[in-house]
Amino acid sequence: MKSVPESLQPAAVSSTEREFEIAVLPGDGIGPEVCAEAVRLLRVLQPAMGGASFQFIEQPVGVEEYLRHGDPLPPAAFEACRRADAVLLGAMGLPSVRWPDGRELTPQIDLRERLDLYCGLRPVRLYHTNDSPLKNFHAGDLDLLLVRENTEGLFSTRHHGHSVNADRVCDLMTITRRGTERIARAAFREARKRRGHVTLVDKANVMPSMVFFRQVFNDVAKEFPDVQADHVYVDAASLFLIKDPRRFDVLLTENLFGDILSDLIAALVGGMGMAPSADIGDECAVFQPSHGTAPDIAGKGIANPTAMILSAAMMLEWLGHPGTVSAAQRLRRAVERVYAHPAHRTADLGGRLTTKELTDKVIEQL
Ligand code: ATP
Repeated sequence: MKSVPESLQPAAVSSTEREFEIAVLPGDGIGPEVCAEAVRLLRVLQPAMGGASFQFIEQPVGVEEYLRHGDPLPPAAFEACRRADAVLLGAMGLPSVRWPDGRELTPQIDLRERLDLYCGLRPVRLYHTNDSPLKNFHAGDLDLLLVRENTEGLFSTRHHGHSVNADRVCDLMTITRRGTERIARAAFREARKRRGHVTLVDKANVMPSMVFFRQVFNDVAKEFPDVQADHVYVDAASLFLIKDPRRFDVLLTENLFGDILSDLIAALVGGMGMAPSADIGDECAVFQPSHGTAPDIAGKGIANPTAMILSAAMMLEWLGHPGTVSAAQRLRRAVERVYAHPAHRTADLGGRLTTKELTDKVIEQL
C-alpha cells in the first residue's frame, strides 16, 4: 500500500511500468450501472497510459451482502480496499433496507471512518449553460470545490443508538484540533492548485464547536499567506451559492454541512449525476459519485454515469503516474466535449441517452 505525502497526491512514480490494484465496489441501486461504465472507460484508456495499467478486483458489498450475511461491508471487501492502490465505489444502501434501530445502511461512511479518509473532495463544474438552473452562467463559469471533513462533526455519534422509550436524543458535534488542522491544510493546498481562496463555512455565531473550528482554521491560515481565507455562516452560504456563487473557490465544511451543501452545489451544475467525489486519507482513497443509489431509476439503464466517470478521472489524477495524470486530463476534456453538444444528455438533464450511450459518446471523444 502506498503512503501518501502531505499534498494528498501520491509522489510521482519513477518507473513508467506500473500496475495499479483497483478495488471495485459496485454496490446497490444505480451503483453497479455507473460503476461498470467507469471500468469500461478505464479499460479503453489503459493502452495509452504510458506503462500504467490496472488490475480490477471486484468485491460484493451493500444490501445483498447485508441480507445474506448481516454485514454490508464484509471483512474481505474491507481488506481488499485497505490493500488496493485505490477504490472505485458505485453507491451503497437502499431506503427500504435498514438496521434494526431504523438507520439506513451506510457502509460508505463506515469505510471513510475505518480507513480514516478524512478529506472529502467534491468538485463541481458547469459544462453547458442549459444545465444550470441559474441564469447567465456559461461553461466554466461555475467551478467550485467543496472540502468536507469526513470523520467527525455532527456525524460523530451516529453509532450511538437510542432507547425506544427515550424522551431526549442528542447528536454531538465533535470538532478536534487535529481533525480541523489536517482538513484545513488539505483545503489550503487544494486552493493553491485553483484560484487561491478558501472560505470556511461554519455556524460560529451560535455553536461553541464552530467557534473552535474557526479559531483552528484561522491558525492554519497563517501557514498559507499566499491563499486568501475568509468565513461565512452556513445559512448565508446557502443564499450566496444561489445568488452569487462566483464569490467562492474552495468551501471548507464540517461533515453534515458538507453533506448538505454538496447536494446544493451539484444542483447548480445539473444535479447529482454531474457531481464526482473523492474521499482521501493518508494511506487510502475511495472515488465515488456524490450521489446515492437512486432507487427511483435503478435497473432502467438511464442513470447519468458522468459523476462516476469524473470520479474515475479524479482517481487517475490521484494515482500520480504520468500516464494516469494525462489520462485524467483526456477524460475530462472528452466529457467537456460531449456536454458542449446540448443533445448529449441522459434523462436527468432532459436528454434521451441511456447510461451506456452517454459513455459511448465519451469514448468517441477520446
Ligand atoms: P444518499 O443519501 O445515499 O446520498 P440521496 O437520498 O441524496 O442519496 P440520491 O440517490 O443521490 O439520493 O438521488 C437523489 C435524486 O437524484 C433522485 O431523484 C435520483 O434519481 C437522482 N439521481 C441521483 N444520481 C443520479 C444519476 N447518476 N443519474 C440520474 N439521476 C440521479
